Amino acid sequence: MSKEKPNKEDANWWYDAGQEFCENWIDWRNESRWRIWEVNGQPAIEIGGTVNVLGKFPLKCYIDRIFVTPAGELVVLDLKSGARSPDSDFQLGLYACWVEAKFGVRPPYGCYWNARKGEVSPPFPLDLYTQEYVGAVLEMLKKAKQHEIYIPNVGEHCKRCGVAKACYSVGGEDSHLYDPLDPSYGRGLGRRPTIDSQTDGGIPTVGRDVDIAQSGSLWPPLRQDRP
Ligand code: SF4
Repeated sequence: MSKEKPNKEDANWWYDAGQEFCENWIDWRNESRWRIWEVNGQPAIEIGGTVNVLGKFPLKCYIDRIFVTPAGELVVLDLKSGARSPDSDFQLGLYACWVEAKFGVRPPYGCYWNARKGEVSPPFPLDLYTQEYVGAVLEMLKKAKQHEIYIPNVGEHCKRCGVAKACYSVGGEDSHLYDPLDPSYGRGLGRRPTIDSQTDGGIPTVGRDVDIAQSGSLWPPLRQDRP
């Protein structure tokens, strides 16, 4: 909570900010000499679907925009309205592979539109994310899925995760039902008691107000385990 955002980023905040974001976008489009790429007679706006990378790895993407710079280079652009920058450029690398597999042309650069600042990041190369590299990562994910290996990846994105309630790593209240990492999983015990109200919009946040020194454990005992 802050003076500017007494109710955090609620619907009213987004209503005002959304208009500002749109105006920022319109201003940038008017000032920029970048133009939307056209492919098969269609503007590259929200283009997507499923293609097979290397002919065998199905990859489903929807790409916000693909632009052509004044120098004639293709740039995939992702619209960002959040306050944080992405941790990696892998998403845009996937997009480059998707375009290459679909149209036989590879956008060499990616960039982000920062709606809050009203600016585009400097374009960066996507050379790292070749179809071979992406294919190898997808192969690993396929194997992990086959063997039911799911490694928690805790971060800001957890606030938007659709299965956070089932995730022990962020204190999900139903993790005892779904998550083998939860010591209560498979023991037929009831719902983990909610020990605090550290939630953000109903979604568990990382970290809990637990006295580790007293409990000797990251988690307090379950209600059923208490004497
Ligand atoms: S809440 Fe759990 S399952 Fe969801 S993204 Fe975070 S670590 Fe992964």
